[in-house]
Amino acid sequence: MNKVILLRFGELYLKGKNRGYFERTLISNIKNSLKNLSCHVVKSSGRYFVTQYDETIELQIIVKLTKVFGLVSLSRAVEIDSSVDNIVGYVSTLKFDAKTFRVSVNRADKNFPIKSNEFERQLGAVVLNNNKTLKVDLKNYELELSVDIRENGKTYISTEKIKCAGGMPLSTAGEGLLLLSGGIDSPVAGYMIAKRGLSLSAIHFYSFPYTSELAKEKVITLAKKLTDYVGHIKLYMCKFTHIQEEIHKHCSPEYMITIMRRFMMKISAIVCKQNNLKAIITGENLGQVASQTVESMTSTNFAQTQIPIFRPLIAFDKQDIIIIADKIGTLETSVLPYEDCCTVFLPKNPIIKPKLEKVIYEENKLDIDKLIDDAISQIEILEI
Ligand code: ATP
Ligand code: MG
Repeated sequence: MNKVILLRFGELYLKGKNRGYFERTLISNIKNSLKNLSCHVVKSSGRYFVTQYDETIELQIIVKLTKVFGLVSLSRAVEIDSSVDNIVGYVSTLKFDAKTFRVSVNRADKNFPIKSNEFERQLGAVVLNNNKTLKVDLKNYELELSVDIRENGKTYISTEKIKCAGGMPLSTAGEGLLLLSGGIDSPVAGYMIAKRGLSLSAIHFYSFPYTSELAKEKVITLAKKLTDYVGHIKLYMCKFTHIQEEIHKHCSPEYMITIMRRFMMKISAIVCKQNNLKAIITGENLGQVASQTVESMTSTNFAQTQIPIFRPLIAFDKQDIIIIADKIGTLETSVLPYEDCCTVFLPKNPIIKPKLEKVIYEENKLDIDKLIDDAISQIEILEI
């Protein structure tokens, strides 16, 4: 009898001709996430398993696997030889705490002598015999004993299903650039889009000495936490101080934030093109603050037209964003006090519905290309 972890994939089964590619990528991502833990990932009889691991690292393996996008669920299972006596013998040793249960038999091996329905009833009787207070409930069961009889002469028996992250395998959609601030929203936006298969690089704009070294450290910590899900992040640190000073000096104050955000987009688009990144991702959310109205986002969208901007949180309620931030472990860092460069030179009355022509008129008071070139030439890259 061997202990194994049985892995279940999700939507990639819908991917038709590309299925092989999605499956290979997922397996490679799984192996990568388990690279520091001694175990094997194997395919056998149409199923994927983690095998040959020591009991002491089982929990660590499971925690890692629950963070791999594309996996829907997993089960700890025992692998035994497929014979009626063997399976009945094993099931008769099982004791359960639950009140209700059902047995599900999947008979992939059509040579197995008992049909699924019949075997479910037989095994149900075996369980009841050994667990006097348990009751069968086919619909509202607390516990499901699943018995998967495969063509390779092995049967896999499990009693649990642990939910994993779901989504699409990381990198199957390419790679994007996350605008990462120190707030709650942008790390969640990165998580959401990575879940759809986009690997992440990230860019952070800082305004030292107006913003502190600590604010920078905070962003590095957030990026590090995201790597639990996205493996590796190239973090571009872009000094924004001079650009902000120039906007402050030359442009009408109520346009400060709008113009600043357009610079962020222009710089991000160049970083994308230079590094083959296919999309810009932000944590913007409709109506949350003055810079997140439809009109403000129109202004930021037209700052560049080469790279699409994805805003996965556009329609989320703050409370729902906070729940995800908590789940992925970024919330505790995001809530630490910090200054964002957006809070430097913050005008008293930022314009809420900027007109694009007026924004461009204000922006043209600056030597845009020179400011951007200077900022890009000073970017520092951190491998997280
Ligand atoms: P967050 O909680 O993600 O900071 P927010 O609610 O504070 O978002 P804004 O400050 O308006 O909203 O920022 C909107 C989005 O712009 C952020 O989610 C992030 O993607 C991007 N952004 C803001 N500040 C920075 C920064 N200093 N560096 C990189 N991206 C930033
Ligand atoms: Mg912010």
